[in-house]
Amino acid sequence: MSVISPPAATATDTLLDFRDVEMTFPNGVVALHDVDLTVKRGEFVTVVGPSGCGKSTLLRIASGLEKHSHGSATTTTNRIGYVFQDATLLQWRTVQRNVELLAELHRTPKAARAAKAQEAIDLVGLTGFEKSLPKQLSGGMKMRTSLARSLTLDPELFLFDEPFGALDEITRERLNDELLRLFVEKRFAGLFITHSVSEAVYLSTRVIVMSGRPGTIVDEFEVPFPMPRDPDIRFTAEFAELVGQVSHALREGHS
Ligand code: ADP
Repeated sequence: MSVISPPAATATDTLLDFRDVEMTFPNGVVALHDVDLTVKRGEFVTVVGPSGCGKSTLLRIASGLEKHSHGSATTTTNRIGYVFQDATLLQWRTVQRNVELLAELHRTPKAARAAKAQEAIDLVGLTGFEKSLPKQLSGGMKMRTSLARSLTLDPELFLFDEPFGALDEITRERLNDELLRLFVEKRFAGLFITHSVSEAVYLSTRVIVMSGRPGTIVDEFEVPFPMPRDPDIRFTAEFAELVGQVSHALREGHS
């Protein structure tokens, strides 16, 4: 009888590798201290930590928007998606034209970028709203547009800076489910920031807990629930227990 083994992990399975990363801003604020973090293919890693502990700084370094002051911060792909808390849509552009924006900046030919945008719009459930302007959209729909815009890049590593923090709970839960569906379907690796411990546990394969500033990693939890994830997992005792453990670590790291 032959046994099929999973493919051996290779160096390219690591999409993000932070070693001893430190960030001191020119005004002397030390935002991050000794951060060691890897994100591999197939992982959805969520970072929780108190406000001001350096979570956004971590993402900006990962995306290349900010340069760390010490240590090494490597990404092995340039297909990096980035979704911010604010949908950052251009108000005068329709949904279709907003979603096409990144492909336009990458000089993708018109027909190809229209097709790519339509595919992304369909994926995030905005079919029929292509001609709408941002002011005609709900908060959740704006966020879907923002997600679609990044999806046109076919990201291998997807960075999320508290994208659903400003949404009501029902919309947030719905978007969590949509995001998990996209994660399973498109197979990007995720690095997600949130203030919500239950959102972190629900979305992730691994939860990272950061201390107060200067932010450093104080704890880490593997999330054992299989993907695709059943939304009802949120009402189980196992889920509540893990949320409790992460919350406890968060409080400890903050004290
Ligand atoms: P978080 O996302 O966890 O709320 P941030 O990464 O936004 O935290 O910020 C971490 C710390 O670094 C905060 O104290 C913030 O005021 C400071 N900070 C962020 N950006 C800058 C900057 N460009 N110059 C100086 N200090 C900054």
